[in-house]
Amino acid sequence: MNDREITEGSLKKVLVVEDNQDNREMVVKALKFNGYQVIEAVDGQEAIEKAKAENPDLILLDIYLPKMDGYEVTKRLKGDYEVRSIPIIALTAHAMKGNREEALAAGCDGYIPKPIDVRELPKQIEHFLKPNP
Ligand code: MN
Repeated sequence: MNDREITEGSLKKVLVVEDNQDNREMVVKALKFNGYQVIEAVDGQEAIEKAKAENPDLILLDIYLPKMDGYEVTKRLKGDYEVRSIPIIALTAHAMKGNREEALAAGCDGYIPKPIDVRELPKQIEHFLKPNP
């Protein structure tokens, strides 16, 4: 971890939405290691609640979630003027070819294919982070 990463990451808050505990912990750990603040949600409903309550700088959103899938979460957030500027990156399953297209069609700003490479993750999300006001 270099100084640049610490400085950039420390100001940024990421909402990690993932129902699989192992995947979630892996992503959270990698983000914290790189200086990000992290909020977690384990289903689609909680994702929406925390996005609105916490106003994160970025949302990492699993597609297959309990209660409401990632596509529906994206449509709702992108349809809400209070939170629609928050970038959403879908975590898409490698084997499911349609995931990317459907994620982008739902309004996601980008996608990261699973399995997630935790060493690449900080670089992958950097481009999508909301600029400082
Ligand atoms: Mn899932």
